[in-house]
Amino acid sequence: MNKWPIGVFASVDAGLGVKLDVARELRVPTIQLHAPHGASRTPEKAQAFLAQLREYGITLTAVFGGFEGESYADIPTVSRTVGLVPPATRAARVKEMKEISDFAKLLGCPVIALHVGFVPHDKSDPLFNEVVAVTGDLCDHAKNNGQALHLETGQESADALLAFIGAVGRDNLFINFDPANMILYGTEEPIAALKKVGKFVRSIHCKDGTWAKHPGEEWGAEMPLGQGDVGMYNYLKTLKEIGYTGPLTIEREIPQEPQRQKAEIGHAVRLLTELREKLL
Ligand code: MG
Repeated sequence: MNKWPIGVFASVDAGLGVKLDVARELRVPTIQLHAPHGASRTPEKAQAFLAQLREYGITLTAVFGGFEGESYADIPTVSRTVGLVPPATRAARVKEMKEISDFAKLLGCPVIALHVGFVPHDKSDPLFNEVVAVTGDLCDHAKNNGQALHLETGQESADALLAFIGAVGRDNLFINFDPANMILYGTEEPIAALKKVGKFVRSIHCKDGTWAKHPGEEWGAEMPLGQGDVGMYNYLKTLKEIGYTGPLTIEREIPQEPQRQKAEIGHAVRLLTELREKLL
């Protein structure tokens, strides 16, 4: 694969992201896929999906897990509902994430990814060790499938991420870096964070956003690429500096406005193509 192939976050029948047709119309060569519903994760569906990807000339670079009951309504709701942190749903979600890993294997995909949730920053919090343990278990399952597990960034600072990855202690645990999330959650300045965690970054999102008035208490605003506070030139320049060569996967979450979503992703493709030519 060429350096920095452009990509888009896509989905079939569950979760966020654009439909495959949109990826084809925008002529992007790669996608990350939000895992389809359980009933759709069959060998037959996997074969049909692969045939469609081949026809469209699209390479699948990661399969993202997402779960029933997750809500990104506001920051406290994320903390309560997202990922492997909430105890009540944890066992079922780890089981489902392993099924998603098995489905990704059917798709020949070497990467699974997820938002693990708000990991406590205090290592003495029992919740910290519980989440470390299940993440390690998931890494081992992925490893048996020949896969790496990528953690979506956002809620954790670079230092907290490094501490968590160190505590899990697996050689197939990496980062899917999303600079906009760090701004939306009010975590920290994303470019500085990217430099710190650089060696673990194996996939990324190209998403933009603006800081909230009270960062960390309320959401920032997601913006079309290039119109937020990330600074796309600086972001790509930093990716080059850390030696990142993987896909530039555009994420734009406005499923309620599909026409606008497609237009803005089209614009993002042009912006990234321009920057890519300047920097590579
Ligand atoms: Mg993201």
